[in-house]
Amino acid sequence: MSRAESNHHEVIIIGSGPAGLTAAIYTARANLRPLVIEGEPSSTSDQPGGQLMLTTEVENFPGFPEGVMGPDLMMKFREQAARFNTTFITEKVTKVDFSNRPFSVWVRDTKYTAQSIIVSTGAQSIMLGLENEKRFYGHGLSTCATCDGFFFKGQEIAVVGGGDSAIEEATFLTKFASKVTIVHRRETLRASKIMQQRALSNPKIEFKWNSQVTEILGAQKLQGVGLVDTITGQKSQLDVTGLFVAIGHRPNTDLFKGDLEMEDSGYLKTRPGSSYTNINGVFACGDVQDHTYRQAITAAGSGCMAAIDCERWLEAQH
Ligand code: NAP
Repeated sequence: MSRAESNHHEVIIIGSGPAGLTAAIYTARANLRPLVIEGEPSSTSDQPGGQLMLTTEVENFPGFPEGVMGPDLMMKFREQAARFNTTFITEKVTKVDFSNRPFSVWVRDTKYTAQSIIVSTGAQSIMLGLENEKRFYGHGLSTCATCDGFFFKGQEIAVVGGGDSAIEEATFLTKFASKVTIVHRRETLRASKIMQQRALSNPKIEFKWNSQVTEILGAQKLQGVGLVDTITGQKSQLDVTGLFVAIGHRPNTDLFKGDLEMEDSGYLKTRPGSSYTNINGVFACGDVQDHTYRQAITAAGSGCMAAIDCERWLEAQH
């Protein structure tokens, strides 16, 4: 087999979170011998396994009544995909060309071609950019209230942000926490009025206006945050055991600008009820096209949809 032939695939899957690996399991079992370009281990946005690699315990993924560690869950996804003849490249895609079929995908200087593409590059939470933020991830610092709220039963915690996400997360977290402080850098919220009212009338929610988190305090686990008043510059400390960062998400779609249709926010557009993008033969699944649910289980479900759409589309081409 020539090099060009060995670099040609029926389907290339870009990204290896729950969506990409579920698409791999399904396409592999359909004998499509998928190539998964899974990302780069050192990166926080393109790491193989996606965002679950940055979490600790996952208690809401069905099938794991005792809970499972995020990285262990992704290892199981990967093993299952490998079992059915999936090939992996542990690097990140540097360029794509979807203007002609077969489609072309580059990993640095090496070109791979495919009849079809499944995009599952995910999204990343926008972080505060603090020095020790990464170290506290899963040890008091979280970006997902639905995933981690349960671990903060009876505790005092803080949420950063003033948009719908922050207010929604804070409101949800009052089910568990004894007190939730919303730290916002201005004194007016960006969130919709109805969400604001809900939070403002919730006795468990307090606000720290005109405040930025400048420091995360604690040794092994988070024990507080340092704040600065954005108007007076005065510093203070908030004693909390949890910090939820809810200042927005960014889909990993830079690679596809100009090729795939996206929302203004960068999320890929898919045809309703399917994984079809604007280019025939290119499918999208998981958080890269979902800013609503953003759960591992919904990403996995949409990965399954993309695999089935892809398989049927390929069959129709032959
Ligand atoms: P967003 O609307 O962009 O709000 C981000 C918030 O984080 C803003 O209040 C912003 O402050 C603050 N922020 C940004 N960077 C910051 C930084 N470095 N330090 C401190 N604060 C920072 O994002 P979102 O809340 O994730 O919402 C995204 C979209 O999804 C919106 O269209 C929203 O309506 C939608 N959404 C809807 C629902 C719902 O309807 N149930 C739920 C969640 C999200 P400033 O206000 O000062 O800019």
